[in-house]
Amino acid sequence: MKVFYHDNYNIDIGLLKFLHPFDGMKFGKVVAQLRHEKRVIIVEPVQCIPETAVNTFLSSLTRRLVLRKRPVLEALEAPYIPLLPYSWLDKRILQPMRWGVAGTLAASQTALKGEDAWNLAGGYHHADQHSMEGFCIYNDIGISYQQLIAGGELTADDRILIIDIDAHHGNGNARTFYDNTNVTLLDVYNADIYPNNPVSRRRVDIAVPLPSGTGSELYLNKLTAALDQLSGGYKLAFVVAGTDVLATDPLGGLQLSVDDVAQSHKLVYQRLKALNIPTVFLGGGGYGKESAAAIVAGIKAISG
Ligand SMILES: [Zn+2]
Repeated sequence: MKVFYHDNYNIDIGLLKFLHPFDGMKFGKVVAQLRHEKRVIIVEPVQCIPETAVNTFLSSLTRRLVLRKRPVLEALEAPYIPLLPYSWLDKRILQPMRWGVAGTLAASQTALKGEDAWNLAGGYHHADQHSMEGFCIYNDIGISYQQLIAGGELTADDRILIIDIDAHHGNGNARTFYDNTNVTLLDVYNADIYPNNPVSRRRVDIAVPLPSGTGSELYLNKLTAALDQLSGGYKLAFVVAGTDVLATDPLGGLQLSVDDVAQSHKLVYQRLKALNIPTVFLGGGGYGKESAAAIVAGIKAISG
């Protein structure tokens, strides 16, 4: 398993970290625990995603909004901070995210060559061409999809699968691919929390809405039943593997343990392997103290 990581993924916001639950330094912690895993190869994306790739994806309005402090802070769910310069936000938060997008593209290219790939960052499933929200600025799957087609690694006729097992519904992915019938969405999410959006929910092909408080047995049974509905023929699968399904997560509202998360990753991986679909796992959300441990457990479970 190739695990994509770069030191530039880490988001160090200093004292501002007390304003947001996301642990931006999580990626480095995960890698420190994976360094001695024999079956894991840590790979760095060679460059940050080029500005042209981002701008080709974004609508003209969003291209302008992403250069302004207030809309970016709103998307990051952070309060307005008058003296904070935009350049600080760009360097400390947006640039790490753009490295995360580069990781998704590089990991996708690796998966398309037949190797298992996992990008520790990415999975920014609330953003789309026209909006940024929910701590997501750039839709890394949409940008990568566009770049893979431009580079001839995919065609517009190829069938693509997105499996989203982050606790939140992937409204950004649903909107990004709203009219693209070659993209199948399978989404398992807590239906009681953000984003309560009926329009984007309707786009999901295989939807598994769950109530807050759902525990391991029901979650894993429902996930298995959803995966059983899949058939083969996909050129590539993206898996948004957010760990905010953990009971210790302050935002997800579900009740999974670290072992359950590893089990869910393994169920997804085994199903996609059985269907012979190249797969790239992506970071997604994860805001609790066990998030890094669950990512490590998931990677070990599928690379073992
Ligand atoms: Zn989430």
